[in-house]
Amino acid sequence: MANGPVRVRFCPSPTGNPHVGLVRTALFNWAFARHHGGTLVFRIEDTDAARDSEESYNQLLDSLRWLGLDWDEGPEVGGPHAPYRQSQRMDIYADVAKKLQDAGHAYDCFCTAVELEARRDAARAAGKPSGYDGTCRNLSAERIERYRAEGRPAIVRFRMPDGPITFTDLVRGELTFTQDNVPDFGIVRANGAPLYTLVNPVDDALMEITHVLRGEDLLSSTPRQIALYKALMELGIAKSVPQFGHLPYVMGEGNKKLSKRDPESSLNLYRERGFLPEGLLNYLSLLGWSLSEDRDIFSMEEMVAAFDITGVNANPARFDLKKCEHINATHLRELDVKDFIEACGPWLKAPHAPWRPEAFDRAAFEEIAPHAQTRLTVLSDITANVDFLFLDQPVEDEASWAKAMKGEPVALLTTARAKLADTDWNAEALKNAVLAAGEEHGLKLGKAQAPVRVAVTGRTVGLPLFESLEVLGRDRTLSRIDAALAKLAA
Ligand code: GLU
Repeated sequence: MANGPVRVRFCPSPTGNPHVGLVRTALFNWAFARHHGGTLVFRIEDTDAARDSEESYNQLLDSLRWLGLDWDEGPEVGGPHAPYRQSQRMDIYADVAKKLQDAGHAYDCFCTAVELEARRDAARAAGKPSGYDGTCRNLSAERIERYRAEGRPAIVRFRMPDGPITFTDLVRGELTFTQDNVPDFGIVRANGAPLYTLVNPVDDALMEITHVLRGEDLLSSTPRQIALYKALMELGIAKSVPQFGHLPYVMGEGNKKLSKRDPESSLNLYRERGFLPEGLLNYLSLLGWSLSEDRDIFSMEEMVAAFDITGVNANPARFDLKKCEHINATHLRELDVKDFIEACGPWLKAPHAPWRPEAFDRAAFEEIAPHAQTRLTVLSDITANVDFLFLDQPVEDEASWAKAMKGEPVALLTTARAKLADTDWNAEALKNAVLAAGEEHGLKLGKAQAPVRVAVTGRTVGLPLFESLEVLGRDRTLSRIDAALAKLAA
């Protein structure tokens, strides 16, 4: 597919928090670069001082690092086309805009917003194309002089060439845009600030980008960028026009486009819930692509080896949180226990953990961890699953208490306590003790263990009970049953 080395780019604007759509774009560019042994350029499109923020910039870097998506040129790593922040490249854009204007590819447009709007309304009313009508395309030298003398502000507008623009999208196949759909467009504001329409293709050209892979929402800017590229080639600024591939929309609840504002689109949410980077990336790679029909779970190495941009599906992809969770849970189970224990680290301390820091017992945690590993969906679930080991008293959960302490809990707990006081302390013996206590009261194991579980852990659901008791130890188990009996007697 590629003639010569592949160079792709990920070029977000630092506004707001990183979201799922952005990460999917970064992932597909990364996988494409790695598959082809090419270069991933990370560029920051921070030309909108009113919306960009340093906080968002730092978050972008931190998020990519957390996900393990590394870049070859860009912030922190540098590269031959530095700087990689557009706010530091303003003189380059001014220079290119001037060259475009000198060569006749762009012109000063003096139309005011009010004039533009009035003409647009009239065109619409007459059923004509409502884009820029070319009023300032061929102004006479005198007219331009007069406008300047009047102090009329002017933007710089790019002159679209005549005729339709056709290109082959790597995802969607051949696409044609007619001239009516692509009118002349602004590239520099009246105050001299260059616009996305200019800076994005100019940097792609200067950074020798070979493939532009980005979201479908940017499809309408592609014919303009191709025209601008051709002008840049004439000026010797661009070498060739890159190939384009537009990734499908991601749909959320109710089949509406997943928006940045939807809570499930925020990357931070997944981080805070304790998704594994490899689990989240695995799921995001399925938003438009698949490794094979029968395999949803794979590693990033496998994705890189198999990734083919022409295999991306052009149809909208549906974001399915349940599936995302399932894939993450599967990756959690596949970790070495050692790595799982390591990954739980942040959730075993403040602010996540409710116990006193000195109450945490690493050996006890390592003993229970294998039982937790097969049950968690996300790492943050670990805290509630093991808190019974480190809290002085089990959590008080009234709903669990009401559910488990039905029937004759006092009789059952009294018998169970006696048997637990007098048994070997291993999971198997503990199970037999509770089983025998249940039998005395005509209860199956499930019914007999519910009050014991709530007395000891505070909750009706949790890790396997007898393994939990084994780790908790005899003294604490018995004293918690005593406390429950006292509460039942009160
Ligand atoms: N800065 C643009 C954005 O975040 C990049 C678009 C592109 O990939 O061309 O939407």
